[in-house]
Amino acid sequence: MSDDILRDYLSFYRDLGVKTLHRRAAPPPPHPAEPPVQPGVSHTPEPVLSPLPGLHPSDDTLVRIGDDIGDCKRCRLGEGRKKIVFGSGNEQARLVFVGEGPGADEDEQGLPFVGRAGQLLTQMIEGTARKEGIPISRPDVYICNVVKCRPPENRTPLPDEMEICGQFLYRQLMTIRPKAICALGSTAIKALLGTKEGVTRLRGNWQKWRDIPVMVTYHPSYLLRPYNQNAKKEAWEDLKKVLHYVYD
Ligand code: URA
Repeated sequence: MSDDILRDYLSFYRDLGVKTLHRRAAPPPPHPAEPPVQPGVSHTPEPVLSPLPGLHPSDDTLVRIGDDIGDCKRCRLGEGRKKIVFGSGNEQARLVFVGEGPGADEDEQGLPFVGRAGQLLTQMIEGTARKEGIPISRPDVYICNVVKCRPPENRTPLPDEMEICGQFLYRQLMTIRPKAICALGSTAIKALLGTKEGVTRLRGNWQKWRDIPVMVTYHPSYLLRPYNQNAKKEAWEDLKKVLHYVYD
């Protein structure tokens, strides 16, 4: 779909006052190896990442999605970025991590999670895998963000930025079709699950994006703050759970 058509679609729906496209899409059939969704956890089936008609070609590839993003200026984030941060890792990964959006280091290098938070994420993945006897390292998983361009001053992405860029995350996830997704922090939660519920309430329990199990955990930037050290233990538990589910 060309940029112009996509823009028309979005403005058409927005003019109608529709904030999230295809809100009433039928829920997908259950995942065959689906882990239990914890009772008592509210889960709204209205993710920001909704498909636009025809937006996920059946022969989609990550290369094609990158080509379609092009030199993107679909939203204001395109004005200030240095590099688009598409995502990196194994294109056939069984596990995908979704963060919020690039920071300064990522914007410079065009790669996700390469700054301090990224180093912590790498340690978390590789340290937990090693301890649990799971033979994977960072290149075995796929890592990407809800928005592909750095928000000014690292602010939280705005709803329209998430929705426009969310179409590409939607295609990335549909193309990779991982066995599970790990949502890092509240922006990823909002984009994937369409809920404003916080990490503290959702973490540690399985949620779902379409038919793919989603484990919510803290964003590594949150874990870097000295007063949040207690949350680290919980994040390690979450990661343990998701790694065993995916690789056992
Ligand atoms: N924070 C994110 O959410 N994503 C990155 O790529 C880096 C930091």
